Amino acid sequence: MLSAITKQDIANLDAANHRRLDLVPEQPRETYLPYALPSIGEEEIAEVVDSLRSGWLTTGPKTKRFERAIADYVEASCVIAVNSCTAGMQIALRALGVGAGDEVIVPTFTFCATANVVVQLGAKPVLVDVGDDYSILPDEIEKAITPRTKAILPVHYGGQACNLDAVYAIALRHNLAVVEDAAHGIGTYYRSMKVGSDAVVPPGVRRAVAFSFYATKNMTTGEGGAIATNDEALAERMRLLTLHGMSRDAWKRYSASGSWYYEVLADGYKENMTDIQAAIGIHQLAKLEGFIATRRRYAQRYFEAFRFLPELDLPVIHAAGRHTYHLFVIRLNPDRLKIGRNVFIEELKALNIGTSVHFIPLHWHPFYRESFGYVPGQFPNADVLYQRSVSLPLYPAMTDADVSDVIMAVRRVIAANRK
Ligand SMILES: *Cc1c(COP(=O)(O)O)cnc(C)c1O
Repeated sequence: MLSAITKQDIANLDAANHRRLDLVPEQPRETYLPYALPSIGEEEIAEVVDSLRSGWLTTGPKTKRFERAIADYVEASCVIAVNSCTAGMQIALRALGVGAGDEVIVPTFTFCATANVVVQLGAKPVLVDVGDDYSILPDEIEKAITPRTKAILPVHYGGQACNLDAVYAIALRHNLAVVEDAAHGIGTYYRSMKVGSDAVVPPGVRRAVAFSFYATKNMTTGEGGAIATNDEALAERMRLLTLHGMSRDAWKRYSASGSWYYEVLADGYKENMTDIQAAIGIHQLAKLEGFIATRRRYAQRYFEAFRFLPELDLPVIHAAGRHTYHLFVIRLNPDRLKIGRNVFIEELKALNIGTSVHFIPLHWHPFYRESFGYVPGQFPNADVLYQRSVSLPLYPAMTDADVSDVIMAVRRVIAANRK
């Protein structure tokens, strides 16, 4: 039997760890490690060339194949491929009836696209605070509901699912629609269910889930996205909106099975996916589980390397579900470091390590401040998280040696700046 670990043991471990920290090699890596890079293989290249040679460039057979493959993967009955996650969220909100004068509840800790799509429909993004996992707080959603509230737009931050049970319970109670921003969420599990799967949504809630296949996301089509839903009528409406509001199967109008005739049923958008994008996506999806396994392994290395450093707080991981580690965000402990987040980033850059910040909370940006009266300092958790957060490089195109370089560089910057 091992005896329980005492506070003294931990102090000894910390001290030993610090001594090791101060012994890290002097030589930084010679080449710059970008914050993110896609993993594109010969399969994707050959498939794109095949599309280019085939004469069918825009939405066509490969897009349909890709939609079916995504539907199978996330276990959703309906999937529509679009040209971005932003487009997916916009079309979903529009199809769910969000319009002028409505309010949509959005976490402040997200990318601007999550709120811009709301604004573009004439509605107001009602920002709310997040918890220490960077996910929307259900209590804050509840407090933000007014008679104008039409929908909730939660984000699966960094590849970890938000509390969907709580979100859907609120949606059901207040008769609200839900659009999940799953830009980071392809391959994420909420408990035992994939994000986007039909099984997640309780009967009686109308909802759609938008994925991103932007170049830096878990898988890519260059630019691209997809919307998943269990609701066939909603899917039909969304499909119409992706291609000018033209009646069903307008994309086939130049093929032998198509017809020249169509009717415009809504003032739709031009946000369809092309076969060139789908050609990349078909192979990226086939590799996604491998990408996620690599992300998870590298994340584990970061956890092991940093876990005894009191200068850092590591990501908060829920016991259930599966985190895909789209992001690995560390938080600096200002009581233990002489430098702040911005200098920390500069020092890592000087050691040839690229990093990023996800995200500048929406209530800090001039547009939302001027348009809706938000002010920095308004959301205490997000304000603190923002000032302390740094996203470390974590992607399958990195090697184990790259991961070691990041670990060494982080330790070195900490060792040089410890209080
Ligand atoms: C990347 C991202 C988006 C936008 O995705 P696009 O496919 O580029 O439109 C939306 N929300 C979040 C949280 C993102 O990180």
